[in-house]
Amino acid sequence: MAWKTLDDMQLAGKRVLTRVDVNVPVADGVVTDDTRIQRILPTVRDILAAGGKPILMAHFGRPKGKVVPEMSLRVVVPALSKALGCEVKFADGNYGAAVDALAEGEVLLLENLRFNPGEEKNAPEFAARLATLGDIYCNDAFSAAHRAHASTEALARLLPACAGRLMQAELSALEGALGTPKRPVMAVVGGAKVSTKLELLGNLVEKVDHLVIGGGMANTFLAAQGIDVGKSLAEHEMTDTARDILAKAKAANCNVILPSDVVVAREFAANAANETVAADACPADAMILDAGPESVATIAEALANSKTLIWNGPLGAFEIQPFDAATNAAAKQAAELSRAGKLISVAGGGDTVAALNKADAAKDFTYISTAGGAFLEWMEGKTLPGVAALEG
Ligand code: ADP
Ligand code: MG
Repeated sequence: MAWKTLDDMQLAGKRVLTRVDVNVPVADGVVTDDTRIQRILPTVRDILAAGGKPILMAHFGRPKGKVVPEMSLRVVVPALSKALGCEVKFADGNYGAAVDALAEGEVLLLENLRFNPGEEKNAPEFAARLATLGDIYCNDAFSAAHRAHASTEALARLLPACAGRLMQAELSALEGALGTPKRPVMAVVGGAKVSTKLELLGNLVEKVDHLVIGGGMANTFLAAQGIDVGKSLAEHEMTDTARDILAKAKAANCNVILPSDVVVAREFAANAANETVAADACPADAMILDAGPESVATIAEALANSKTLIWNGPLGAFEIQPFDAATNAAAKQAAELSRAGKLISVAGGGDTVAALNKADAAKDFTYISTAGGAFLEWMEGKTLPGVAALEG
């Protein structure tokens, strides 16, 4: 890897400016899900253990360069202190004085960086000001690495820089899945719309051996083949694009797996009356809400022969039963193969992670990315500014 980790840095006695993502959900002043806080603990603990002083920097919400009291990061201090098992200090005004007052063994959190307009502008002056607060820069916010902001990009070029533990884990998992993967590689791309995942599909067909297209976007591909998809969610203006992707896949020897049978219903609702029909036989007044059992079997066979899986987007309307069946079946199989050491499985995306949790499969996946946008951009083959800056 081209970037350094905490192991490469001399941390003792050093102020370690650490970019984290603690943009957690809050209701009535209380953190309701501390997953993101849990994920940064290894980095903070390792800095402390090496005698360094962690100075945490983060954003919270979208205050657009202004001080918005409701978006103060102070709200996460109790949850952060509890998770770390020590008191976390907070700096909302004079950062320099708070940093100077920080003793060894203590942790400091700076106020929402996005209160300053320089943060999102990647302004050199703001980065230079931040740089005076630390001796070493550590980026542990992979989920913010697709944005070139002062704390993710410019600052990394001003101080000796390294990746934190979470960043390291994300990058290693993604590199293992798409960079230098064990073949055959299968990608599963589903979800609602082709238009949001176009670049993703375009990149994947050149890199993977099997590409399963599911969910609403499969309907657009069926329509592109002249199939009437009735009232299904489909983007008819995208059919040319879908045909281009199929042609690109063929040229790259990528095996595209589209549904051969589908589960249709007359309404988008739980337990709606439904039937399974061939993919080209959706009734005019019905909509496709899931892949059928024959499709599930085709996916299962390809998956059993794959060594690596990368997954974004559910195969059907997984929120409503029984249209979660195809997603659940593939998720459970991937979990079993991973548990048996036969498959490297990496998944990401808000709804995807929810679907894998619902199928009780997430815990057996090799890696679940919590980075929504950054994960997608990485899968699209883009260079992430925050990662590039670490590479120097
Ligand atoms: P992620 O958040 O993991 O990137 P998406 O947001 O792209 O995933 O897609 C998830 C959404 O796609 C879910 O809300 C799901 O209901 C919807 N979806 C999947 N298949 C269908 C379908 N056949 N018809 C309508 N919506 C679907
Ligand atoms: Mg989503």
